[in-house]
Amino acid sequence: MKDRFERQINYMRISVTDRCNLRCFYCRGVQDFSFIPHEEILTYEEILRLVRIALKLGIDRFRLTGGEPLVRKDIENLVQEINRLEGVRDLSLTTNGLLLPDYLEKLKAAGLKRLNISLDTLQADKYKKITGFDGLEKVLFAITRALELGFDPVKINVVLLKGLNEELDDFIQLAFALPVHIRFIELMEFSPEDGYFVSGKQLREKLYHEYALETMKIAGSGPARNHYRIKGMKGSFGFILPYSDHFCGSCNRLRLSADGKLQTCLFSSETTDLKGPLRRGAREEEIISLIKEALARKPGSWADNHSQVKRNGLRSIGG
Ligand code: SAM
Repeated sequence: MKDRFERQINYMRISVTDRCNLRCFYCRGVQDFSFIPHEEILTYEEILRLVRIALKLGIDRFRLTGGEPLVRKDIENLVQEINRLEGVRDLSLTTNGLLLPDYLEKLKAAGLKRLNISLDTLQADKYKKITGFDGLEKVLFAITRALELGFDPVKINVVLLKGLNEELDDFIQLAFALPVHIRFIELMEFSPEDGYFVSGKQLREKLYHEYALETMKIAGSGPARNHYRIKGMKGSFGFILPYSDHFCGSCNRLRLSADGKLQTCLFSSETTDLKGPLRRGAREEEIISLIKEALARKPGSWADNHSQVKRNGLRSIGG
């Protein structure tokens, strides 16, 4: 399915909950402690119905996210059910990794092959400062266990935060030690906190000067177009730079919030409710029309909606 800018739309990020077991300061919104009431959250059956409809529209790559997807009960069942659907080309999951050790084997048995783990620092004190919890050791354990169990690729998402993790060296060392793919991500302004933005482009240039970087391509790579390796590295690293090197021209995604709202651009406040029609018993064609209508209005670039960005945190939007 193509949009009006000839972009191939084939990827849906599905938020399964807005609850999270961390309190990252930059992911909190102005109304951090308001949660979607349980009865408003899509059931697994409803999510599966929407996935089946999405498949008919040529959307065949899916990512489960949140909130923290592992706090939703029996998430492995959803993974398994999605994997069973004919036509699903890719399914992945984004997690903060804290609960991952308890789930890795179940997720693997459910057919999950790859994982994105969010981790912004390798220093315990900074981890606590950023997330509000002590948990670094657990996340590091989850990463090594995921590798042992054969998840591939294991990507580590690092949001660049001024004064907290700009040095990048720790992560570069991690990519020497383990076959992980580090993705440095520019902070987007979805929270009331200001002053932590740091240009990823500048940090990338610094690395260019310090090391001989080899460029490379990795499987399932979306926006992290620039992937690099330094000679001797087991893993790699890359940059996702929504501001200093934006990739809207090749955006292939739609987002589904935990309460069933379809969002065609992270920076747009426009959403299309799919839960209402689903629960009213809408026919498949009606849902398909709603998705197509939403897609027809997908902005060409984040800059089109920049002034409208709501500071309500990615946790509630679905990261
Ligand atoms: N709880 C899961 C996790 O931690 O990966 C999934 C949801 S979380 C919202 C997804 C990703 O969004 C995390 O890597 C998080 O760091 C990132 N994120 C949250 N707020 C962000 C922001 N303002 N700018 C850039 N990335 C952000």
